[in-house]
Amino acid sequence: MTSREPEIIIVGAGVFGLSTALWLARDGYKNITVFDRADYDARNYDPGYGCSAASADINKIFRTAYGDQQHYQDLAIEARDMWMSWNDQIANTNEADLAKPLMPRDRLLEECGVFYLSSGEDKLDTHSQQSLNTLAQTAASIRRQIYPKGDQLEEKRLATEMAAKWNKKYHVADKLAGGRSHGFLDTGGGIEYAYKVIDPFTGVKTGPFTGSRHRLARTRSIYANSVGSSSFWAIPEDD
Ligand SMILES: Cc1cc2nc3c(=O)[nH]c(=O)nc-3n(C[C@H](O)[C@H](O)[C@H](O)COP(=O)(O)OP(=O)(O)OC[C@H]3O[C@@H](n4cnc5c(N)ncnc54)[C@H](O)[C@@H]3O)c2cc1C
Repeated sequence: MTSREPEIIIVGAGVFGLSTALWLARDGYKNITVFDRADYDARNYDPGYGCSAASADINKIFRTAYGDQQHYQDLAIEARDMWMSWNDQIANTNEADLAKPLMPRDRLLEECGVFYLSSGEDKLDTHSQQSLNTLAQTAASIRRQIYPKGDQLEEKRLATEMAAKWNKKYHVADKLAGGRSHGFLDTGGGIEYAYKVIDPFTGVKTGPFTGSRHRLARTRSIYANSVGSSSFWAIPEDD
């Protein structure tokens, strides 16, 4: 059996460095040190304090639609269960026992839904269609969480299967491209919160990840940058 004693050094405390450390630790390795040139322990991955690595952001979109790249799709589906179990774990832990600045009401993944805006008008682009095909062939239950726009049967299915609030999200892009925009709503997609502490608008220290301003900040920028090209939009409850 391989010894679990050797000292392991990981350079880079982004999501890949940290997940490598996590899985090594779960596999029994005890002597792991993660180095980074940024002082994330003091700044909590806050982009407002100059944390500019890809992993240090306000939030990230979580999705399962990856065209014909089934490997990414499968990883996302597997990861989703882990994010949700972390949500449960945080909710069921006393604040004093959580790593600062986490609080029991914090959620790391919020399944607020993601709308994929297709680059073509009137029909789904190739990537979107491949996403739906791959999911239908390999992950039918996840495919059923997705509702393509401009299809009466799919819209009816949404109304039957989902709460009323999802109808608004389904129609979020209706007015773009003179009403000819296309895409699909992934009700299993959402936002992963990447940092905590400073409200980007007021500079005030805040408690939860889930302040609506945080959610809107990135969503608005996605909205502004995406018209006319394919993109993913997370859709917070209060947008
Ligand atoms: C603008 C943007 C938007 C994105 N949106 C999404 C999204 O919505 N959803 C999604 O799933 N993915 C998204 N991604 C992709 C995702 O963010 C990245 O794949 C992921 O964060 C990469 O993580 P990483 O750990 O490999 O790299 P990084 O997060 O870049 O981490 C590398 C770390 O290494 C440190 N480092 C580098 N060199 C040294 C050195 N010499 N010494 C010490 N430390 C060093 C850096 O400081 C950094 O902290 C996005 C990426 C970008 C850029």
